[in-house]
Amino acid sequence: MRSIDKRFARMLDCGQVVAMKHIELAIVDLDNTLYAANNGVFDRMDRRMNHFIARELGVTEAIADQLRRSYWRSYGTTLKGLMVHHGVAPEPFLDEVHDIEVHGLLVNDGRLNEALHAIPCRKVIHTNGTKEHAERILNVLGVSEHFQAIYDIRFNHYQPKPCSVTLQMLLDAESTPAHCSIVVDDMADNLHAAKQLGAKTVWVETQKGAHIYHDLPWDFHVADIHDLSLHWQGMH
Ligand SMILES: [Mg+2]
Repeated sequence: MRSIDKRFARMLDCGQVVAMKHIELAIVDLDNTLYAANNGVFDRMDRRMNHFIARELGVTEAIADQLRRSYWRSYGTTLKGLMVHHGVAPEPFLDEVHDIEVHGLLVNDGRLNEALHAIPCRKVIHTNGTKEHAERILNVLGVSEHFQAIYDIRFNHYQPKPCSVTLQMLLDAESTPAHCSIVVDDMADNLHAAKQLGAKTVWVETQKGAHIYHDLPWDFHVADIHDLSLHWQGMH
């Protein structure tokens, strides 16, 4: 029995399943949640970030690579570190880094399409990337029609997830209280902000073999995004 099944069984025992009937909005992360980004998408964006940093800061590619990793760990996005420490303008960075050809790396995902069809609520994307990047990914996966809105890093005023302030901004824009929403994300830390506001949370274990964060605030854990709808149906 997988962990989702055990947890679901415990929820049934505790009567928590009743609360899931009130979910009106699913807030879904993009990269590494709807698809596995280790298939080349992240590699291409990382290389573009390194080129940008090396050129703009006048450093070697090796130092640029270190800065990219360091700022990502410290601030949630490399961009935020570049803005704070180097006064980098965000738009040229975002345009250059996300201008990648995703055809050939990703393909139409019929199973994901079916899974999203089976989730009976409004669905939106919340991403640390750009809206254009999200649109390209959703189009290639063939699931654009499922998402009524895309909330990107610009909507967040370049403040990356995890951030309870920007998540509350999204909820306000959607006119949905936190307790009527569920946040789906591969980064367990991002679920903290959601839980603090009172949202339900789903941790998607996109990176196989990743540490299982039993101590972090996820209500559900799925080893594969395609499993999400199966358990959702069970919750209603
Ligand atoms: Mg992600």
